[in-house]
Amino acid sequence: TPDTAAPYLAGLNEAQREAVLMTDGAVLVLAGAGTGKTRVLTTRLAHILATGLAWPSQILAVTFTNKAAREMQERIGALVGGVVEGMPWLGTFHAIAAKILRRHAELAGLKSNFTILDADDQIRLIKQLLQAEGVDEKRWPARMIHAQIDRWKNKGLGPDQVPGGEAHDLAGGKGLDIYRQYQERLRVLNAVDFGDLLLLTTRLFQDHPDVLADYHRKFRYVLVDEYQDTNTAQYLWLRLLAQGSKNICCVGDDDQSIYGWRGAEVGNILRFESDFPGAKIIRLERNYRSTPNILGAASGLIATNEDRLGKTLWTEGDAGEKIRVRGLWDGEEEARFVAEKIETLHRQGQSLDTMAILVRASSQMREFEERFVTTAIPYRVIGGPRFYERMEIRDALAYLRVIQSPDDDLAFERIVNKPKRGLGDATLQALHAAARLEGVSLTAAAGALVQTDELKPRARNALAALLDDFARWRQAAEVLPHPELTETVLDESGYTEMFQMDRSPEAPGRLDNLKELVRAMEAFENLGGFLEHVSLVMENEQSAEGEKVSIMTLHGAKGLEFDTVFLPGWEEGLFPSQRTLDESGLKGLEEERRLAYVGITRAKRRAIITHASNRRLYNQWQSALPSRFLEEIPDAHVEKESAPGLYASYSTHDPFRGAGHAPSTYSSPGWARLRENVAQGRYARSPVVDSVAELVATNDPAAANAFAKGMRVFHQK
Ligand code: ATP
Ligand code: MG
Repeated sequence: TPDTAAPYLAGLNEAQREAVLMTDGAVLVLAGAGTGKTRVLTTRLAHILATGLAWPSQILAVTFTNKAAREMQERIGALVGGVVEGMPWLGTFHAIAAKILRRHAELAGLKSNFTILDADDQIRLIKQLLQAEGVDEKRWPARMIHAQIDRWKNKGLGPDQVPGGEAHDLAGGKGLDIYRQYQERLRVLNAVDFGDLLLLTTRLFQDHPDVLADYHRKFRYVLVDEYQDTNTAQYLWLRLLAQGSKNICCVGDDDQSIYGWRGAEVGNILRFESDFPGAKIIRLERNYRSTPNILGAASGLIATNEDRLGKTLWTEGDAGEKIRVRGLWDGEEEARFVAEKIETLHRQGQSLDTMAILVRASSQMREFEERFVTTAIPYRVIGGPRFYERMEIRDALAYLRVIQSPDDDLAFERIVNKPKRGLGDATLQALHAAARLEGVSLTAAAGALVQTDELKPRARNALAALLDDFARWRQAAEVLPHPELTETVLDESGYTEMFQMDRSPEAPGRLDNLKELVRAMEAFENLGGFLEHVSLVMENEQSAEGEKVSIMTLHGAKGLEFDTVFLPGWEEGLFPSQRTLDESGLKGLEEERRLAYVGITRAKRRAIITHASNRRLYNQWQSALPSRFLEEIPDAHVEKESAPGLYASYSTHDPFRGAGHAPSTYSSPGWARLRENVAQGRYARSPVVDSVAELVATNDPAAANAFAKGMRVFHQK
């Protein structure tokens, strides 16, 4: 009999204890945020080890991220009071499946040193196949085919299992054939993609019952966190493995299912009972994480969803602070507001480690990052690089650097074949050799090389075209304001198009980031000034040590908790995203609402939601409406700071920022307001104001530029 007095059980409530101690059979813990699901899972694991029910190597434990796996490993050690030697089968679906596949590679038609291809390689492969098949790549870009293959794999469908009709016109009817050839190519290359890891191990188990039987004997216990976000392929894999011991425990929350767009199936929760007859469903209703106000706000919000199982949640203690909702003028003011708030809380003794900013779209991060750099607030971006470190941003900057300084070899090399223009390794080697020989930069060497017949005609033409482009852009740089120059370069180089054709889930975010880059430039007088700013920001190397505010996406925040949570950008079109608003049906909108629920429930003590009335989206200023989700939070739990009146807010906003650049800003609210203010004599009169007032009234680009320059002089005084 288990030792029910074990120290690690102390403090658990009855339902939690039951979920920990019921080690035999199938258990599904279905419960809301912060009710201790992860804690139950960890304690259960500790319990199994502590009572000798299994060795660490006999437990299969699946977490959603590698980070979560590491944390679980540490917590188990703490619970059983000692170091638990490695848990070889604790990790993500992909990590575990890769490990299994390596052990039996030959049976799956692979060698054990197979490589796992990244998305770029996969797409390149598909592209070759499309070309060989003569498929029109304009109509059927490789990335789109890739995304479809990925969707099939998420559903557990190999080429021969895709239902007839589904692939009907994909790639002009050749979609399935491409999928089949793609798989064959992968085998020849001794390679797999991510989807294969699950698909191939599942097939391995089906084709080789002896292998499966081995794992059935091996895995005495199966544990799964964040169960609501498993996709069909993962579910089938799991079910096969768990059929052995039948000791499986999954924990999840249907209200936190936020990966539907990646193929997750909440339906797996419903299948559980039929696939594991006699499964015990345990509900946890007490939330230990948040104050009643936070929990009430989140519960009220999620109650709007129709598609949910429904549950009760309660928490003890002081009602706590209400959720604060604050409207601000624009994104910059929002960042300023959040930074000030963080400084105040910090002064009051709250550690920066206990604060987080959770954004809907990663392009929202830049404004916060820059504010933090300016005000010297240490921060970390979790789950991704910092804004200026992102691939697409570095690429765009590389183009600009080559325009600015033709001899910047590193920048040139970065983009010479991005997007692909047939300037591969061979060309680059020839370029390097020539540059070394002559002691000149790559660009200079390229200029000489295209005059000779050293390169193959195709490469020579492509290189000459690129050099022409740069020459033209350098000329344009003389006359075009730099934000427009950047747009031109990104368009003409084909860089933007590359992501427009890209149907992968990351592509829209990358396009947003590029637009955000253009927007960021507007605060600077010229390209040189901007590039210098970037290098300064980048130099601001964040030390590994010390407290830091966390910035991450809402998706990345799943399972985590913080004392104070900032939730910026709650506006229609941003959150819920425009994409979900455009689509018919409630599915997408309900998933956005679950994301909002995840956001609020990360907070233990304090949640501050902000929205701006002007947001620069898709490259133009838009008046933004507060998110509908704000209306759905019950009034009793909210304290709304009324959106400040235009001018009240305006007084803290620099009216001259960005006033003189792209024509789009002339119709921006900021510009209109400026004109109005000048017209109504709202600024203290001065010779400068007097003279610019006239320029403002004319409203033409040249005057506006002069105006902006004038104001900068004005500011320096
Ligand atoms: P999420 O749905 O967000 O993943 P969860 O259900 O996994 O949440 P946990 O992260 O396990 O919840 O727990 C939330 C917080 O409540 C943690 O700080 C945890 O330590 C605490 N907690 C859980 N159970 C108890 C308990 N019985 N007594 C005290 N604190 C608890
Ligand atoms: Mg959890």
